[in-house]
Amino acid sequence: MDRKAVVVGGGVAGITAALMLRQQGYQVTLIERAEELGGLLRSVYPFGSDYAFDFGTHLGRETGIDELDSLLYDGLDAPRLPSTLAGSFHGRLFEGNAFLSDQGLPERQRRAGLEALINRRGGSVYEDLSDQLVRQFGEVYAEQLFEPIIEKHFGCSAKELAPEAHRLFGLARLVAGNAEQTKKLKQTPQHDEVLAYHSHLDLISSQRSLYPAVGGMGTWIDHLHRRLIEAGVTVRTNCSIERFDRSRRSIIGVHTDQGAYEVDHLVWCAPLFALAKGLGLPLPEGGPPRRLTTTLQHLLVDADYQTDLYYLHCYEPSMKTFRVTLYDNFSSTLRGKRRLTVEHLLTPSDFAQLDEDAHARETDYELVEMGIIPSSASVTDRHLAVYPNGFPIPTPDFVGANEQLLETARTATDNVTLLGKNIGKIWFMNEVLVDAYRQISAL
Ligand SMILES: Cc1cc2nc3c(=O)[nH]c(=O)nc-3n(C[C@H](O)[C@H](O)[C@H](O)COP(=O)(O)OP(=O)(O)OC[C@H]3O[C@@H](n4cnc5c(N)ncnc54)[C@H](O)[C@@H]3O)c2cc1C
Repeated sequence: MDRKAVVVGGGVAGITAALMLRQQGYQVTLIERAEELGGLLRSVYPFGSDYAFDFGTHLGRETGIDELDSLLYDGLDAPRLPSTLAGSFHGRLFEGNAFLSDQGLPERQRRAGLEALINRRGGSVYEDLSDQLVRQFGEVYAEQLFEPIIEKHFGCSAKELAPEAHRLFGLARLVAGNAEQTKKLKQTPQHDEVLAYHSHLDLISSQRSLYPAVGGMGTWIDHLHRRLIEAGVTVRTNCSIERFDRSRRSIIGVHTDQGAYEVDHLVWCAPLFALAKGLGLPLPEGGPPRRLTTTLQHLLVDADYQTDLYYLHCYEPSMKTFRVTLYDNFSSTLRGKRRLTVEHLLTPSDFAQLDEDAHARETDYELVEMGIIPSSASVTDRHLAVYPNGFPIPTPDFVGANEQLLETARTATDNVTLLGKNIGKIWFMNEVLVDAYRQISAL
């Protein structure tokens, strides 16, 4: 008889797990709380079907694992894109890549910064994020470049955050010195891991980005949903879990408002907190951790963009914009007006005081200041989407509580696989996909 698997959470992690488990011969049920699958990969159409918007920059990208790429992308009408044109703004538009750069610093500080980076202390165990930044990038870059951006994005200082927190926002590397110096320095591993190439064209990768020919990333999810059905996976959307049946350390049944399912193996791709609560496990003290809320303003403008970038990060401390997505530079469904999504990161207190009109005015002003649209352009349509509590603020308490929760869940169960960004260890889409592939392959 087929072994029975229940997958909880229908984002990309859960979808991938469900497809793979089915291939392994499991009878699979995928349970999703929302109306549709996809989690953060849904597209929205606030101004009609001609204009798709996503949760910000979510280009598909091949993982480099043929079997996984074929599972995810075969049969999808999605042209492979020319090398991803990412950029950043810090005083001027930098069309090299989306990492933080020293280009905006005065020449003297750039030289001092590069020298301090080359002579940095290094290490692998850090007291906090501030300590890590100094050891990895040297004092000058840490203070002049990273600290102000950490403060802007997280609303607190690097001293208050756990090491590794900066990786969340593409701050894992730095563009420093000139292109030739970088290429030379990157030949040694300790410099390679902290320096970014000056141009995306220098990075030779066989993995390509892709984007659906019609609609947005939600088209990809619809494609995967069809694959799930064709493969014989039972998909339950709008479905809430009521309780679990347990036998010693195994979960043997899941009860939902749409029926009960027997379980030989459970794959959990939803927030860890919900699993711990459902199993009656002890929760970390101190209440829910602080998180950042993302606002996404989906805009239509009546003029061409002034740049070819697909997306850019705004590293200007005096500006509020976090990231801008310029869909019509990578999507083939070009219509009359140009689409943009402008993301902002807000702390809980900033979000509580949000003034929507001021938010809109600031956004339009910054788009012109950054040189993305001309001053003569008008925003003709605007839709404000809010993704509450999306980004963790990784303080040491937060990281400690998550570790504790993970450990508790792992020791309390012996037939559960934990996957996806909601487990708190990994964040980016391809990290999530590759981790899901590895863990399910190993079952
Ligand atoms: C604003 C924003 C921008 C991002 N931009 C990028 C980017 O540019 N590049 C990148 O690589 N990554 C980006 N990410 C991260 C990326 O979105 C994630 O890596 C990816 O979507 C994670 O997929 P997942 O399946 O793990 O989680 P999710 O997409 O969160 O899916 C989890 C699913 O579980 C469901 N669920 C929750 N609770 C329950 C429950 N109790 N029962 C049943 N179902 C439940 C949810 O409804 C959801 O469908 C971004 C994230 C955010 C928040």
